[in-house]
Amino acid sequence: MRVGVLALQGAFIEHQAILEGLGAQVTQVRLAAHLEGLQALIIPGGESTTMGKLATAFGLMEPLREFGRQRAIWGTCAGAIFLARDAHRDQPLLELMDISVQRNAFGRQVDSFEVDLDMPYLNINGASEAAAPFHAVFIRAPLIDSVYGQARVLTQLPNGTIVAAQQGRLLATSFHPELTADSRFHRYFLELAR
Ligand code: GLN
Repeated sequence: MRVGVLALQGAFIEHQAILEGLGAQVTQVRLAAHLEGLQALIIPGGESTTMGKLATAFGLMEPLREFGRQRAIWGTCAGAIFLARDAHRDQPLLELMDISVQRNAFGRQVDSFEVDLDMPYLNINGASEAAAPFHAVFIRAPLIDSVYGQARVLTQLPNGTIVAAQQGRLLATSFHPELTADSRFHRYFLELAR
């Protein structure tokens, strides 16, 4: 499968490594032409305002919206913000998913944290391995404060805070599965993109 990672800024190399480990052919996307022939795209973590400014400057906003209307996109952290319809402030967003997000919702960089979460939907192959909780890494992460329309909640923290949502082939996660050795989330996304 041919998969792109948006490579304007942020943690795209880590996603690329996991995808290649799963046998995908990976393209780093910096221009609209790079989207051609891809079945899916990952928008990595980083800084969503910078990402939005660069995507605007590179003429990528409309091509990315068009891509997301037909194919799979997964945004992690800053990428999840970028996919949202609303971030309660003025910044360029793709507005593809019926979610709103609150940036930096858990505090500053030093308040980054890791937590094991149950994600039963990762059990795509019926493997017993999938019964294990997923180790979720949050780095100056957003939370998803509203899920409506076509979107649905995928994962919540024990206190009910929404940290993952899905809308058809669109996925948003507050956390960073590319920073752990566990590739189940990437496999889930590739299944979705097929
Ligand atoms: N704090 C960043 C933002 O608001 C996201 C952080 C991340 O992607 N790890 O865009």
